[in-house]
Amino acid sequence: MIKVNAYAAYDAETPLKPFEFERKDLSPNQIQIEILYSGVCHSDIHTARSEWGPAKYPLVPGHEIVGRIVAVGTNVTAFAVGELAGVGCFVDSCRHCQSCKEGEEQYCEEGMTGTYNSYDRGTDIPTYGGYSTSISVDEKYALHISDKLPLEGVAPLLCAGITTYSPLRHLKVGKGHKVAVLGLGGLGHMAVKFAASFGAEVTMLSTSPSKEADARQLGAHNFALITNPEVMKSLLNSFDVIVNTISAPHEYDTYLNLLKKNGTMVVLGVPPAPSVTPAMTLIWKRRSIMGSLIGGIKETQEMLDYCAEHNITSDVEVIDMAYINEAYERMIKSDVKYRFVIDMASMKN
Ligand code: NAP
Ligand code: ZN
Ligand code: ZN
Repeated sequence: MIKVNAYAAYDAETPLKPFEFERKDLSPNQIQIEILYSGVCHSDIHTARSEWGPAKYPLVPGHEIVGRIVAVGTNVTAFAVGELAGVGCFVDSCRHCQSCKEGEEQYCEEGMTGTYNSYDRGTDIPTYGGYSTSISVDEKYALHISDKLPLEGVAPLLCAGITTYSPLRHLKVGKGHKVAVLGLGGLGHMAVKFAASFGAEVTMLSTSPSKEADARQLGAHNFALITNPEVMKSLLNSFDVIVNTISAPHEYDTYLNLLKKNGTMVVLGVPPAPSVTPAMTLIWKRRSIMGSLIGGIKETQEMLDYCAEHNITSDVEVIDMAYINEAYERMIKSDVKYRFVIDMASMKN
């Protein structure tokens, strides 16, 4: 057994606290990664606080994981000890359904195995995520990480990066498209970077006036305060695509009206309460609402390679593990620039 130090939520109400557990010895197809950095996603907060239904406690969140390989199983061929590797939001899937065969394991018809808040397939052994010193994963569910980019900025690509890259690619966003990004947090800042990199004209839609200069620095061509009714009126029927990353409950309708004819709102945020959408808002301009869930292993590797080639990383605030509860409170107040990333060396102090 491999002894692991971690931080866990023990229930929905109290702060995360230190937690020790053991991971099983490596199976022949697995690699063991010493975790160096772990990003903090708003999904960690939703899950830790049981906002999406009862979580499995103790819960070790974290699905934006990068580190160095310290051991490989006897059947492993794609990875070697000493290399960098990453793990995203899932660590397994059924491997035989249509979605798995198509490389879109996140949509596995039997359900993907989450990196945390899940069970190892066919067992009652809980999966524990990246707020920990070590993780073991089947090589088929691990990612190759370039050593050219700063590692702490790469970690958030494993969720915030792929979650925004995938729908923009699916919609073939590029030159000539007007894209709006709703909410400038972890996902939002990566959506701005990718949409701008693909050649679109990008408008940042935010509740935080203090983020305007940063939004432009990240690649946004325009910035609009969505709390100002006059500004909202001026933007009616403007965008081909709106990437909605808002984590708190809100009405889609307010923003759907900013879409042009045939426009699409990509819903990425998962607020704990639903939104009511009047049929008229969609019908009168043939607008669509599309959901999108992270991305498959193949596309995640493609995104990581694209980032290495184009020098794209996440803008991060590196924190010690013990700062996690303050980081959660700050994220809930939208006070994040633009991803907290835990330096796992802080677990050794
Ligand atoms: P985050 O870093 O906390 O950013 C969320 C941003 O939303 C905030 O910074 C804020 O931006 C804006 N916002 C917050 N409350 C708002 C409100 N009441 N009205 C308008 N805007 C508000 O969160 P994240 O990690 O990017 O995650 C965003 C959401 O995506 C979460 O719900 C998360 O669970 C979900 N998610 C989904 C997937 C997927 O596969 N679909 C993957 C990862 C995460 P401004 O300051 O600019 O207003
Ligand atoms: Zn996430
Ligand atoms: Zn499957």
